[in-house]
Amino acid sequence: MYSCSEVLAELSNYLDDEVTAEIRRELEQHVSHCRTCQVIYDSTRKTLRIVTESQSFELPEDVSMRVTKSIMNKVRGATRQDPPNSPTS
Ligand SMILES: [Zn+2]
Repeated sequence: MYSCSEVLAELSNYLDDEVTAEIRRELEQHVSHCRTCQVIYDSTRKTLRIVTESQSFELPEDVSMRVTKSIMNKVRGATRQDPPNSPTS
C-alpha cells in the first residue's frame, strides 16, 4: 500500500499515463481509501483538463499583454528621445 507522499509523487505521471499497471493499481487503491488524496487527485485532474481544453489561452494572453506593455514603454521612451519628426514621412 502506498503512502500519501508516494501517491503524490507519482500523481502527475499517473495523470500523464506514464506509470506501470502495478503503480496505477496501487495509486487507485490508495486514492479510493484516502480522502485527502481523493481531493488532491480530483482537483489536479480538473485543473489539468481546464488547461488542456483551453489550450492555455488565458495565461499566454496575460504574458503577451505584459510583454507588449513593456515593449510599448520601451518604444515610447526611445521615441521621446528622437527628434520630433515622423518616421513615416
Ligand atoms: Zn493519501
